[in-house]
Amino acid sequence: MTFLSQVADHLITNHKENLGDVTVVFPNRRAGLFLKKHLSKKVDKPVWSPTVYSLEDFLFRYSNVKKTDTLALVFELFEAFKTHHPGSEGFESFYFWGEMLLRDFEEVDHYLVNPKQLFHHIKSDRQIAEDFYFLDEEQEKLIQKFWQEFFPSATKSQEQFVETWKILAPVYETFKERLQKNGIGYTSHIYRQLAEKIDGEQLSVKGPVIFAGFNALTPVEELLIKHFVSENQSEVLWDIDAYYLENDVQEAGGFLRQYQKDNILRKSFPETIPSAINTEKHVDVTGVSLEIGQAKAIGEQIGELLDDGVPLEEIVIILPQDYMLFPVLNAIPEQVDKLNVTMGYPLKETPLFGLLEAALEVQEHSQLSATNGLSFYHKPTLDVLSHPYLYKEEKNPLDKLIKDIKKKNQVRVFHDDIQEVGSTVLNTIFRQIKTEENYATYLQHVVEVLGQQVVERFGLEREYLYHFQQMLARLNQILAAQSTQVDLKTFKGLFRKATRSIKIPFSGEPVEGLQVMGVLETRNLDFKHVFMLNMNEDIFPAAQRNGSFVPYRIRKAFDLPTFEVQDAIYAYLFYRLFQRSERLSFYYNMYADFGMSGEVSRFIRQLEQESKLTIRRKKLSNSIQVKERLPISIDKTDDVLENLSIYTDKVSPKDQKRLSASALNVYFNCKLQFYFKYVLRLFSGDELSDELDKRNFGNVLHMALEYLYLDAIDGKPDRSITENDFFKIRNSVDGAIEKAFRKHFGMGDKRKFVLKDRNVVMADLIRKFVNKIIDLDEEYAPFSIVSLEKEDKYERTFRVQPNGSVYNIRLGADIDRVDKKDGAVRVIDYKSGKDAREIENVDKVFDTTPGTTWKKGRNKAGFQTLFYAWLYTSKHGSNDAVIPGLLNMQELFQKDFDYRLTEGGEPLTDARPHLEAFESKLGDLLKDIFSRDVPFDQTEDERTCKFCDFKGICGR
Ligand code: SF4
Repeated sequence: MTFLSQVADHLITNHKENLGDVTVVFPNRRAGLFLKKHLSKKVDKPVWSPTVYSLEDFLFRYSNVKKTDTLALVFELFEAFKTHHPGSEGFESFYFWGEMLLRDFEEVDHYLVNPKQLFHHIKSDRQIAEDFYFLDEEQEKLIQKFWQEFFPSATKSQEQFVETWKILAPVYETFKERLQKNGIGYTSHIYRQLAEKIDGEQLSVKGPVIFAGFNALTPVEELLIKHFVSENQSEVLWDIDAYYLENDVQEAGGFLRQYQKDNILRKSFPETIPSAINTEKHVDVTGVSLEIGQAKAIGEQIGELLDDGVPLEEIVIILPQDYMLFPVLNAIPEQVDKLNVTMGYPLKETPLFGLLEAALEVQEHSQLSATNGLSFYHKPTLDVLSHPYLYKEEKNPLDKLIKDIKKKNQVRVFHDDIQEVGSTVLNTIFRQIKTEENYATYLQHVVEVLGQQVVERFGLEREYLYHFQQMLARLNQILAAQSTQVDLKTFKGLFRKATRSIKIPFSGEPVEGLQVMGVLETRNLDFKHVFMLNMNEDIFPAAQRNGSFVPYRIRKAFDLPTFEVQDAIYAYLFYRLFQRSERLSFYYNMYADFGMSGEVSRFIRQLEQESKLTIRRKKLSNSIQVKERLPISIDKTDDVLENLSIYTDKVSPKDQKRLSASALNVYFNCKLQFYFKYVLRLFSGDELSDELDKRNFGNVLHMALEYLYLDAIDGKPDRSITENDFFKIRNSVDGAIEKAFRKHFGMGDKRKFVLKDRNVVMADLIRKFVNKIIDLDEEYAPFSIVSLEKEDKYERTFRVQPNGSVYNIRLGADIDRVDKKDGAVRVIDYKSGKDAREIENVDKVFDTTPGTTWKKGRNKAGFQTLFYAWLYTSKHGSNDAVIPGLLNMQELFQKDFDYRLTEGGEPLTDARPHLEAFESKLGDLLKDIFSRDVPFDQTEDERTCKFCDFKGICGR
């Protein structure tokens, strides 16, 4: 029988006639709804229901003070602090300390400590005995030990501590006065005021009061409950078990044993203490690899229970770590149609927080210029555009905008482009904040507009929106009370800190469906099937993390709670789960991660040692088992060959693509990589960058040279470059570089563009290379330009017949530069590095013998430039000598710089004699690519995998 069913029985047995006059008080609100359900099952005629309260609601009825939120309290504390510490830091910097101090003051009130005595500043060793006369010997020793550390010479941080410490008592007083004046407060503040009141008057209540299911009362709670018990004949019903109550070493029963000895409370304990923990039940403890694995495992087990006909209401999932809520919700099986979440969920873990943070970033990096209008930095802009809230609403136009930004490498995104999407949410985020508006109002507008659009999934989104709206309204009030305008940086810090400490109290209709709850929410509730995650040491019980101004020894001396108290609370909550359940499944993460030990909670180990229960230990390690890497090989099925046929005339001309030298080089390196890149056409989404990386550096350099020489031959039918042209060429360098940068960053011709930061250095470097190439060209002049990169396409169709099928394969290249002088044509590729120029012979550029596919092996650049030479002669015939060459930037400044390929150490002055052999080898290569018998398999040379985008798929 559940505890609440027992409470219902007690009410019917002892108060059946006046049930409507009875008040039942639980530690929290949730138990009340469950109690009413039990009562309704037990009475056969209509009766008045008892009034049910949480302790907080019950006691707050005696006070006019209104409980307020943390944000408002920290602000009041800040104002109080400033009066005793003029010139102190701003609210944003104070917030962290303010929250900590507020927790300390809450404890001071919960534990009825005199703040003047606690925050007493000791100036000498001798003073201790005199000033702490009210403490016992043990407590006095603790104080002595603590303060002795400060004598005779305190360190700098100790001095700072003393500085703060000595104003804490007056800060407490001023803080309380401010709260009093505003009629607001916090829970223990209101309790303490009531406790001070009961010395002179009685807190009246009509009818009997039953306090049910309490443990670990703070002194002020204990005092108030005892007041009702002694003055109003109130009753207390304990939720206990002999297992921990009658064993002095069990920390779970520590508080209850004290109450058993108390003059007032001891009468409320039953003569026979129930003993249910050590009775037969199924307990399993499963170690799972990684946290997410726990959620998956739980989902599967719950699915099995439901298939066996277990009602949803008999199952609870307990989450000691709130961030596991969404992984668990996502793992819950399909059969679950009703679900109730009862726990505090941190605002900062919600998807909405990410969106609002990105919106602030958008504002921080927005720019308004007279020439270009309003623009936003691409990073936060892309974060907003790809946020699930917006993306699922406006998928198509957003996709297009995102693609455009990436394609054009738009470092700044313009307001006009965003407006074209026509989204109200986007228009609310991407705008210029009005002068009279503050950032809290800006975010409030965003939340408001989102609220009109969000599609509910778990029914939780509206809760986030509501709590953000409330928090922002509060921030707005606080900012309005500040004498100075808060800048965006400060606001961002404040927004983050405030969000970090606020939890959304999810609480739906708790009696229905599968229950998902936090640990504290399990108080008073019983379920037949209990599933609990994160049963790791350091999580359950939790490691002490909340900071405090009050050092450990002083806490001990003043009986303020220490981690031992927290552990005792956790222990009670743990053992209570065993009292009435039939099956308990615990999960823990077996792998140490982020400071967690990867060990099972000591509560489980204690249970194994001390109880009579059979605990089944399991390990689920499949998910991270290092699987044997299976080779990947893609057979050339009809589908694969169909995909490959985009490089042939089997598809319509508009769908045809060309195989380039780069694609063929990839095939040499790894057939599977070729398949991913050129058959499936999986391209890695390159990161946008506002600064040039190595690859983009090369692109901008290429473009600048192309613009420069296109300009030089403009209006010249013979496309000649003579020594007279170099004055103009040299004077056009800066313009060509700027044009290339503009193009790279998608800035068009009209928008203003200024080079900044690292790009200034990059532009200098590009200028240096361009000028050097001009020097070399001036020495080489006169010559004529045959083609520049984007000017002319070199293409050829090549017929192969593998396995009896005919393929006309399209091959092509954009050659960086082709020029001509005295019957010799140079086909040149610009390289930003230092590619090898030695080819040994034609066979070697096709040689894929294992071990020759990497750097010093097969010459990729050699293959590429020979391929260019072959394409050139295919187009223009072979009247002229064709010199393949590489303009290696890293070699440009060498004394004997030579661009030509070398063969056996000698410069290759004409590629024509090699082109027949080249063509024959190329035919073999293409046959190989299109042959059904040759699968796309993985390279044997794993060095190739080092920089491959697909190594994740291959597991290399
Ligand atoms: S990871 Fe290695 S084997 Fe896999 S595709 Fe890339 S290069 Fe080929």
